Amino acid sequence: MSTADEDFDVVVIGGGPGGSATAGLLAKQGHTVLVLEREKFPRYHVGESLITGALPTLDDLGLRKRMDDMGFTKKYGGTLLWGKNQGTWGFRFTESALYEYSYQVRRADFDALLLGRARELGATVIEEATVKEPVFDGDRVVGVTYTERGSKDVRTVTARYVVDASGQNHLFGRQFDLVRWHEDLRNIATWTYFQGCRHYGGTKAGDIVSENRPSGWFWFIPLADGTTSVGYVTPLEQLKSSGKDMEQLFHEELAKTEEVRWLTEPARRVSGFRSIRDWSYTSERFYGPGWALVGDAAAFVDPLLSTGVTLALRGARALADVIHGSLADAEEEAPLFESYEASYRVFLSSVLEFVRFFYDRTKHKEDYWDKAQQTIDPQRLRPREMDFATMLSGLTGINDIFYQRRAA
Ligand SMILES: Cc1cc2nc3c(=O)[nH]c(=O)nc-3n(C[C@H](O)[C@H](O)[C@H](O)COP(=O)(O)OP(=O)(O)OC[C@H]3O[C@@H](n4cnc5c(N)ncnc54)[C@H](O)[C@@H]3O)c2cc1C
Repeated sequence: MSTADEDFDVVVIGGGPGGSATAGLLAKQGHTVLVLEREKFPRYHVGESLITGALPTLDDLGLRKRMDDMGFTKKYGGTLLWGKNQGTWGFRFTESALYEYSYQVRRADFDALLLGRARELGATVIEEATVKEPVFDGDRVVGVTYTERGSKDVRTVTARYVVDASGQNHLFGRQFDLVRWHEDLRNIATWTYFQGCRHYGGTKAGDIVSENRPSGWFWFIPLADGTTSVGYVTPLEQLKSSGKDMEQLFHEELAKTEEVRWLTEPARRVSGFRSIRDWSYTSERFYGPGWALVGDAAAFVDPLLSTGVTLALRGARALADVIHGSLADAEEEAPLFESYEASYRVFLSSVLEFVRFFYDRTKHKEDYWDKAQQTIDPQRLRPREMDFATMLSGLTGINDIFYQRRAA
């Protein structure tokens, strides 16, 4: 792109799952779309365990068969050592009836697949391009400025809509002071990779394993290259009061686990540690004149239920529809964006509420099943185990978020 006068229907900030999917789906519908991504893909990212709520968007993008062909680990459910129960329990995706399996993914590969698909579908993608700030016409956002790596030139691109999919960088959230932290979910995560772990047999081989400790929990995510991602999440306050660093805590706590210790016993660590603050937040608004947020730019929920990529992909599917409708008929803009935010919030709230309940490890599995039933099936139309599996599949209200237009 050589001039500062380029114009698109939509500019998307960030080429992670939220941005790539929004861009790909809009390009597929014939709109001109530009994705500006700060990094050069493939790039590392945390968040490797996908739930089946991500699959409808991957289907729309035509990616599921490719994911099978690429050999991503098939994840048929989750094994839990959680709450007051002795021993492991868990859920199978088939209990929620819609999908048999999801995937465990190396995010570098998965995100590159999605960004590449956006390109294939017709989006223009510029990598190593960092968006600096929105461009306004009155109070409406009509574009952004950005710089490309290695150049001092500040470029301007205009668009009918700007989508902020910048993840935890939440560019517009900072610009408009929208980020509201959830004080009770201020955690920190540290993780590393092992080679040679034990694995379960059969369709449990690709399970995520989540094991609670009195003041934190571990994830165990088997990846297709033979490595396993193992992470520990604990409240920030806990870390501070322990007087230890996260690496020390990881080792000490891992030694006290039952299942994860057994699974990692024969393995050797093949990478260093990574840490990230893991604070949940929701943006005060998800859209404004000429702009909208999607994925982590809109909200981030603690990784306990592996909902991050699903939130981003469900949001992207809905937002692409909303922008498509608004580009066709400007009169529709206000109600469409309103419905986008409302439906996003319904799903988000149910996830947040359930995460909070699940963090209370003084319960039995039946209590978690009951909570799932109260949340998504108050009339008790299905067995409570099925409601629990549906909740953990990220499939609740999967049709609501697409409002009437998609059904029409
Ligand atoms: C510890 C931890 C564990 C997690 N585990 C899971 C899990 O198991 N399963 C799951 O589904 N989710 C998990 N998540 C959440 C998941 O990682 C995110 O929800 C998901 O990546 C969100 O996708 P996104 O597209 O919104 O943002 P991202 O994937 O973060 O993509 C944002 C992109 O925007 C780019 N960008 C940022 N600023 C700019 C800028 N100014 N200009 C241009 N580009 C920019 C970035 O380079 C990045 O590529 C986890 C999160 C944490 C913290």
